[in-house]
Amino acid sequence: MSDLRELYQEVIIDHNKNPRHFFEMKNPDRQAEGFNPLCGDRVQLFLKMNQDMIESVSFQGCGCAISTASASLMTDAIQGKSLKDAMQLFEQFHKFMLDEATECHLEKLSVLSGVREFPTRIKCAMLAWHTLMAAIRNP
Ligand code: ZN
Repeated sequence: MSDLRELYQEVIIDHNKNPRHFFEMKNPDRQAEGFNPLCGDRVQLFLKMNQDMIESVSFQGCGCAISTASASLMTDAIQGKSLKDAMQLFEQFHKFMLDEATECHLEKLSVLSGVREFPTRIKCAMLAWHTLMAAIRNP
């Protein structure tokens, strides 16, 4: 269990140091900004669509390690997915964050399971996802 935790820790540190899809997109089809006042995390999210599919996604912002790693993991997880699949992933991840009993079928996103022990940090982990939902709902 502690080996697993160490591995999770490493993945989070890696995604925080070298966030994936971390750039400002020119001419995005959709975008949204998110702010987590509890921690001061800010994120800007950009989507390029191909009809209903998220052709590419990027983000920018500054925040704590959890918010940056979560945004990075999210962009990896949703690129190439349909909007519907991305929304489903949001529901699953949200449930996973709020309920320790929920099993994770979220592959890499499961590295954030440790965050559930720190309720104030759940908002950090959810920020990018809420921003994604805002981008999807308000084109
Ligand atoms: Zn934070």
